[in-house]
Amino acid sequence: MIVNHIINGVESPNFETHSTSPIYNPATGEHIRDVVLADTATREHAIASAEAALPAWRATGMAKRSHIMFKLREIITSRSEELARIISEEHGKTLADAHGEITRGLENVEFCAGLTHHMKGEYLQQAAHGIDVHQSRQPLGVVACITPFNFPAMVPLWMITTAIAAGNTVILKPSEKDPSAANWIAAAFRDAGLPDGVLNVLHGDQHTVEYLLETPRVKAISFVGSTPVAKAIYSSASAAGKRVQALGGAKNHMVVMPDADLDAAADAAISAGFGSAGERCMAISVVVAVGNIADELVEKIVQRAHQITLGVYDDPKTDMGPVITRQSLERITTFVAEAEKHGATVVVDGRDWDRTHLNPNGYFIGPSIIDHVSAGMPCYDEEIFGPVLCIARVDNYAQALEMINSNPYANGTAIFTRDGRTAREFEVGIEVGMVGINVPIPVPIGAFSFGGWKNSLYGDTHMYGPESFHFYTRRKVVTTRWPLPDESQINLGFPTN
Ligand code: NAD
Repeated sequence: MIVNHIINGVESPNFETHSTSPIYNPATGEHIRDVVLADTATREHAIASAEAALPAWRATGMAKRSHIMFKLREIITSRSEELARIISEEHGKTLADAHGEITRGLENVEFCAGLTHHMKGEYLQQAAHGIDVHQSRQPLGVVACITPFNFPAMVPLWMITTAIAAGNTVILKPSEKDPSAANWIAAAFRDAGLPDGVLNVLHGDQHTVEYLLETPRVKAISFVGSTPVAKAIYSSASAAGKRVQALGGAKNHMVVMPDADLDAAADAAISAGFGSAGERCMAISVVVAVGNIADELVEKIVQRAHQITLGVYDDPKTDMGPVITRQSLERITTFVAEAEKHGATVVVDGRDWDRTHLNPNGYFIGPSIIDHVSAGMPCYDEEIFGPVLCIARVDNYAQALEMINSNPYANGTAIFTRDGRTAREFEVGIEVGMVGINVPIPVPIGAFSFGGWKNSLYGDTHMYGPESFHFYTRRKVVTTRWPLPDESQINLGFPTN
């Protein structure tokens, strides 16, 4: 079976070529379907379809757009099991986790349903004598949204929903590893009443992305993915004069202070480190144990790690599924295999996990815990993006702060403490975009925006929520005067009050 594009409301194959990319079920290694990779004529068709839909969509009343958002929420909520199964089959995450992803995606649909408020402008009466000024928000035009494999529904919903609510038309280019959720979402939008051509799903790889970056017909780029690609996309899109936000990878630290509740901290480290097999941009990948609690904390984390059951997505006993590809499995395995060579200690080895009940062709690896990790070791310096939790030991809070602030990634971080003053100091001094105080995965709720700092985000606008409406609109300021006939005069000076 082929996963085709959705262009102008209909399922569309390529015009010229039959280029495809295989999709695998990570739990079995089975080649389950193929996704079409767009050729040039098909890319042009998608852009033309988005352009053709733009005038009517940007003129569509806010109340009608809002109604579509409410309807979309209803469709996704009532059919979430269907979407969850599509996500899990191609991604490998448990059904519970897929439902979690859908819920977090829906938060932005709910936020966008209030678009009449978010699209409101500003008005200042009597800015100068007899002069009023108002500012409105207008859509950018055709925008492209390029999304990663790890949240095949949530990240598209974070981007496209706001772009559409703001009056733009969209080309969504999902990950070729798990593209089917994007098609499901496009069908749900259509059923919610979205006119054809407003949302187009264009499947493809790097070449399609490059095309979208280069063409002047696409006005803005939203990207989420790995840091090297985010950085390249930011510079190409900027050079092409486009508005761009490019969210990259992460290395999220969780500081555990000596006064913390160690059981709660160990629970949090396990949940945030191994949920979705560590394939979350907000996963905790380094626990920073402060002071003399390190041995006790590691013991608690190790004990809990051994209770994790590896399995397939639809088995209710499964805590953790496979990773996304065979290449990813091999990469993760190498980090664990080489950790000791670099001076760290592997205290839990995911390669030893019981896999007898699993398909040997699946991309499974159990949780790994690597202790005594420090900067300079590959398992610390690089984003592993798998079920590997590193432990770094430091003497005091100042060293923990220094370690995190020296790291080039700055997506999320957390501190576990019972002391309000330490928590406050951390909140103020840490150079990271999203911070949790006794919360290990501080993904902001839909009414706030999401984004990291440094190498975790290129651009100045965070995603979804209020900043997204800012990203997907241009402000226009209008100055108005209605002079009486005898008030008019020639004045070559610069306007003053
Ligand atoms: P990826 O960078 O490989 O791919 C992301 C998207 O870019 C895909 O649609 C892919 O087709 C496209 N792409 C891949 N290589 C490209 C290239 N050279 N040029 C242009 N386009 C290219 O990322 P992934 O493996 O799909 O996702 C995992 C990564 O995403 C991790 O690094 C993770 O931390 C990051 N991520 C970040 C966030 C965040 O909010 N900061 C959220 C989710 C995932």
